[in-house]
Amino acid sequence: MSDTPSHSLIYWFTQDLRITGNPSLQWIRRHRNNCPLLAVFVWPKGRSISAQAWLAEALLDLRKSLAEAAIEFVVLRDGSLSAWDRLLQAWPAQELVAMSPHNDRDRGEVLRVAEAHFGNHLTLLADDNLLPTETLEPCKLLAHSASKASPGANRLPSFTMFRRMTEAAWSEVVNSLKSELPDLRDARFDANLRTSVTSLKADQGLMSESELQAIAAHGPRAFGLRGGETAACARLRYYFWELDQRDANHALSPQGLRVYQETRNGMLERDDSSKFSPYLSWGCLSPRQIARELINFEQDRVANDSTQWFWQELLWREYFRWLAKVSGPQLFELDGVRPFGSAQNLNQNLAQNPVWSEDRVAFARWREGRTGVDFVDANMRELAQTGWMSNRGRQNVASYLAKTLRINWTWGAQYFEDALIDSDRPNNWGNWMYLAGVGTDPRDRVFNIERQAEMYDTTGAYRQRWLKP
Ligand SMILES: Cc1cc2nc3c(=O)[nH]c(=O)nc-3n(C[C@H](O)[C@H](O)[C@H](O)COP(=O)(O)OP(=O)(O)OC[C@H]3O[C@@H](n4cnc5c(N)ncnc54)[C@H](O)[C@@H]3O)c2cc1C
Repeated sequence: MSDTPSHSLIYWFTQDLRITGNPSLQWIRRHRNNCPLLAVFVWPKGRSISAQAWLAEALLDLRKSLAEAAIEFVVLRDGSLSAWDRLLQAWPAQELVAMSPHNDRDRGEVLRVAEAHFGNHLTLLADDNLLPTETLEPCKLLAHSASKASPGANRLPSFTMFRRMTEAAWSEVVNSLKSELPDLRDARFDANLRTSVTSLKADQGLMSESELQAIAAHGPRAFGLRGGETAACARLRYYFWELDQRDANHALSPQGLRVYQETRNGMLERDDSSKFSPYLSWGCLSPRQIARELINFEQDRVANDSTQWFWQELLWREYFRWLAKVSGPQLFELDGVRPFGSAQNLNQNLAQNPVWSEDRVAFARWREGRTGVDFVDANMRELAQTGWMSNRGRQNVASYLAKTLRINWTWGAQYFEDALIDSDRPNNWGNWMYLAGVGTDPRDRVFNIERQAEMYDTTGAYRQRWLKP
């Protein structure tokens, strides 16, 4: 039932590019059911060709689904206030609705537009992270953490502390997901909303369908992955269920989730890990959908070390989202959330000399995969050519830039943000901060790149693939 008068509203899609189980759309259906609605997405600046292609495909998929629900969806070419102004002249709206962003930069963007054009008539809706907001309430956790910490210790909890603190809530989440309907499509957006827009045109700063199609068609494809909600659901089904089939002799081939713990560090094959991250990053897939399937898998097939490890990776994601929220602008700052030098066992050299190099030439060599360290170079070339790099690769190249070359790590994080198809600010900047020694890692890790290459690219096949002329 509607609880508002009939005013027009804009729903700003950000990192929730899906229809299925989208909590914001469900909220609109419940609370703004009689309001004319226009759905908007703002095209991001500076992304690589691979990242753009992936995103364009996701937007085309979303547009199709929204059209089925009779909702007009437009993509603003840029997020400037004048672009919003042009849009609002063509389609006046009184309220802006969006999913609450997880980090300071994205939040700032939404607030700026709301203030300039909607007289702060803004409704920010909760996301669909796994851990409920109350559990993550920053003060609660910080108070808990401070009471346990020794004097002078980092005031933000490490991942291990976070895991302990959220253990009870985590079990509740798992239990509540068990009782959720098996098919989230039941929650599909079927409101009788109508945008009734025919007047919006590309010359109003909008990207046309054919423009998005051209961008989608020209990008290289990491492992042939396609963007969008449809591809996301197919990937989830495939990685969890289809890979776990028995052959004609009823023998199981060890693939997918069942053996995730053993394969996850692989760098060459598409199914070494789930490759859910580009879908999660843009919200084509929700962590709740994944968690529900994980529970089903544990009930129907097997609960083992691999499924356990997968739960832990989902918790890492929750952790970095929480960290992004509480650290505010510090997430993007060189000093991170901890002044350099407070980690235990910190490399003496670095502790005494926390000066970051601003050597642009050395940075360009790193970015282009020309450092002369073949494991680093292979990974950086894969990223430049496809928009993808494995988790093992990311850890190594980040450690090499921040700890070995001692180059301003925020440059590396910014490059990753632009280049990756799964670019996600909390995960990206949180992991970078962690590896640069200015995050919440209680230890000081420096990756021994040669040893890592021997362990994770034993035959050299990965390096050969990306270094060959
Ligand atoms: C320097 C650096 C930068 C990174 N930048 C990003 C980024 O921009 N976007 C992004 O999604 N991930 C980022 N990660 C985390 C991680 O590398 C990717 O999530 C993972 O490689 C994606 O592959 P997958 O989906 O096959 O993961 P899987 O191994 O199959 O894991 C399943 C899911 O768990 C989550 N997850 C796994 N590892 C991590 C982790 N270390 N931190 C947070 N969540 C994790 C992801 O959502 C992932 O999709 C970064 C890691 C490092 C070291």
